[in-house]
Amino acid sequence: MSSQASDHFAPLSDNAVLRQVLDGLGAIIYIKDTEGRLTYANDVLLRRFGCALADILGKKDHHYMDAQAARGFRKNDVLVMQSGQRLTAEESMPDPITGKLRWYRSVKSPLYDAQQRLLGISGVSFEITHEKKTETKAQQHKALLDMVLDNLGACIYMKDQDGRYLYANQRVAETFQRPIQDIVGWRDVDILPPDRAESHSAMDRRLFESGQRLEGEESLLDASGRMHHYWTVKVPWTLPQGEQAVIGLTTDITELHELKEQLQTQATTDSLTAVANRRCFYEHAVRDFAGSRRRGHDLSLITLDVDHFKQINDQYGHLVGDAVLRGLARVCTDALREEDVFARIGGEEFAVLLPATDLVTALSIAERLRTLIIQGRFCPEHSALQVSASFGVVSREADDAGFDALFSRADDALYQAKKQGRNQVVSMSALA
Ligand code: GH3
Ligand code: MG
Ligand code: MG
Repeated sequence: MSSQASDHFAPLSDNAVLRQVLDGLGAIIYIKDTEGRLTYANDVLLRRFGCALADILGKKDHHYMDAQAARGFRKNDVLVMQSGQRLTAEESMPDPITGKLRWYRSVKSPLYDAQQRLLGISGVSFEITHEKKTETKAQQHKALLDMVLDNLGACIYMKDQDGRYLYANQRVAETFQRPIQDIVGWRDVDILPPDRAESHSAMDRRLFESGQRLEGEESLLDASGRMHHYWTVKVPWTLPQGEQAVIGLTTDITELHELKEQLQTQATTDSLTAVANRRCFYEHAVRDFAGSRRRGHDLSLITLDVDHFKQINDQYGHLVGDAVLRGLARVCTDALREEDVFARIGGEEFAVLLPATDLVTALSIAERLRTLIIQGRFCPEHSALQVSASFGVVSREADDAGFDALFSRADDALYQAKKQGRNQVVSMSALA
């Protein structure tokens, strides 16, 4: 240590009271000359390095600590001396005894004598290893959480009571087609079409009013006009400041929805002819029967069965038979009203439910269908193929206990039509 440096710093080293103060602050305190030689170190620094003041006084950092850490410290020291400015920086070095990395927040200031000549730097380093570890852990947790939230395949978001997004995951950004930073801080009304924004806000309002978890389905058109279906769960959340917020999870269930519709269609539709199947017909029939009885409205039923269909199959083959059934179903459906239910009851047997239709009208409808079937060219490559059907027609009567009574009477009428030579319409009344 030069005698010049020693002269400059002698007053501090001599001041026992001031030294006690600096030792008691709990931070590492040091003074270095312009060359980086230590001219003062408080007790905290000496304890950290496990040495006496005499051992390190006049030494440069790299003489008593990790070389890489020393280089980092020197860089900051030089910066302070060159700029003449105080510097606050995070610095790290391995613990001289355990070798574990320790972090410090250092405040370094340039030091001048009475003539404003630069003497070196003074530094105070507060240990922040614990805070740093907590911060690193928090960052790791956040990264993990972000990874999970972004890969869940659901939109996850948090909004405050004004509807401003406090958080939105990557999926929200993809759905809204804008970056997350253009969502957070904004409200639905600022970034979405009005109807969609209103649909979101309405659910949020209900949640804030009730304070209860909500769930529900939303259907929205996307930019290309495709209908998307979403399942949303929203839960109330209290922010650290006590403010109310909502956390939402929205899953795109479009594919599931389409599958459900497909299954529903399959369950109610006959796969060969694409008209209602027996189950679907009965559901309608039972409902319409009860409705017509309650309101005193008419309800008629036609059953029809293809004549000698077995022969058609035998003569032309099953594929032609299938084509006949499809063609017949199309011709009949086209001839009926929207509210009538035309269904394939089984094999080559069909039925028509005619709400608000009396027996006379039902008879004329059956006659029209019979004519259309006779005229039908269901298989153009077999011009000789002639198809006919027999019809049973009935209407609801006061004594009918249920739809089965009606159906059984229609069956009797149909049987009669077959017996009388086929290709004809027979009606039947319970009163007859
Ligand atoms: P009828 O005039 O007395 O009604 O005589 P039919 O030959 O039409 O009646 P039958 O009940 O003897 O024969 C019905 C035939 O319909 C027998 C069956 O193989 C055929 N069939 C049932 N379902 C289908 C189908 O989906 N496709 C085809 N091609 N044939 C079918
Ligand atoms: Mg038949
Ligand atoms: Mg039959």
